[in-house]
Amino acid sequence: MTSEITDTLADAQTNTRVNLIGLTREALAEAMAGIGEKPFRAKQLWHWMYYRGATDFAAMTDLSKTLRTKLEDRFVVARPKTAREQTSSDGTRKWLFEFTDGQKAETVFIPDDDRGTVCISSQVGCTLTCRFCHTGTQRLVRNLTPAEIVGQFLAARDSYGEWPTPMDERRMLSNVVLMGMGEPLYNFDNVAAAMRIVMADDGIALSRRRITLSTSGVVPEIHRCGKELNVNLAISLHAPDDDTRNVIMPINKKYPLKELIQACRDYPGASNARRITFEYVMLKGLNDTPAHARALIKLVKGLPCKFNLIPFNPWPGTPYECSDADTIHEFAEIIWNAGLSAPIRTPRGRDILAACGQLKTDSEKLSARERRLQAEKAWAEKEAVV
Ligand code: SAH
Ligand code: SF4
Repeated sequence: MTSEITDTLADAQTNTRVNLIGLTREALAEAMAGIGEKPFRAKQLWHWMYYRGATDFAAMTDLSKTLRTKLEDRFVVARPKTAREQTSSDGTRKWLFEFTDGQKAETVFIPDDDRGTVCISSQVGCTLTCRFCHTGTQRLVRNLTPAEIVGQFLAARDSYGEWPTPMDERRMLSNVVLMGMGEPLYNFDNVAAAMRIVMADDGIALSRRRITLSTSGVVPEIHRCGKELNVNLAISLHAPDDDTRNVIMPINKKYPLKELIQACRDYPGASNARRITFEYVMLKGLNDTPAHARALIKLVKGLPCKFNLIPFNPWPGTPYECSDADTIHEFAEIIWNAGLSAPIRTPRGRDILAACGQLKTDSEKLSARERRLQAEKAWAEKEAVV
């Protein structure tokens, strides 16, 4: 047999076995009941999978040999396949992960002095068409499953060898942001299932204070997120008035600013200790004047919040430019003088296209003009569907 054939056979075999990653605790207990095992087996497996990071049943030494073989026959503990891994000169690492159906998504790890943040994707592509975002030019292919969402975190942690889970909170991978590809609130059930696994205290055990979900502003789901998950909330605001926001974020026509800001005011736990983050991408000549800054201050009056000013990260074919450094500083100062925090985010991993809004998984070789036309076509097609 050629190695290609043996690989294919091995894949086919994997595909018929069920991946235990991503199952809720209850589903894991049911899977054990299905093979005639007691519910406490689920607890043991959970520990091996999410505390120890084991991927091989043979390593699960407190299970009998017979049970290990039985598990091996029916199940796998699988990660997405790493199709590519790149490390930036600033230490940022980006993975292109491939799922069992061949679809791909990107994950980024951003190390800092006091923390390390894993930026996770929730969809392959995105249905929305924010004009400044590279992912927005990609067609939505599908939602990621809980296994694929939590799998990105597990694979990132494998890459840094950080198993068993350090329990003292001094962890390399200490924070999660749902700011990769896709709109997490259009895949809320799967995102929530994955985050519950990440938060479970007998496994990865990240507290909800260390998880931030970023949304373009899907108002009804913001309410749900607050009620059911209550992680930190970040809003891609990017404009202080409906006219500007409608142009760069078409979702604003569905959920205008008044409703969006109200949803933020209603978000549980929004307090000075746990402020809502407003992300604001600085686009030259579009949303970056002192008048825009003053309008922003008025818009968020009385809301416990902070701003995060993001210098626009260009991508091939984009119609926009980043605001000048002086303009960004002046903008930050106006907000700062109103008593609101407005740090300017340092772009990370630009050399490997890992910075905000640069993620996109199909990278054909096209000229800038061809890319621009392709982006416009993709936006028109997607907006016709939504
Ligand atoms: N879909 C979600 C999360 C992913 S985007 C959302 O829109 O919030 C993560 C952040 O990067 C968002 O604030 C997004 O608006 C911002 N972003 C998108 N494209 C960007 C670009 N080219 N430069 C800088 N930030 C960008
Ligand atoms: Fe989708 Fe977010 Fe990009 Fe908008 S900014 S297109 S919601 S990924």
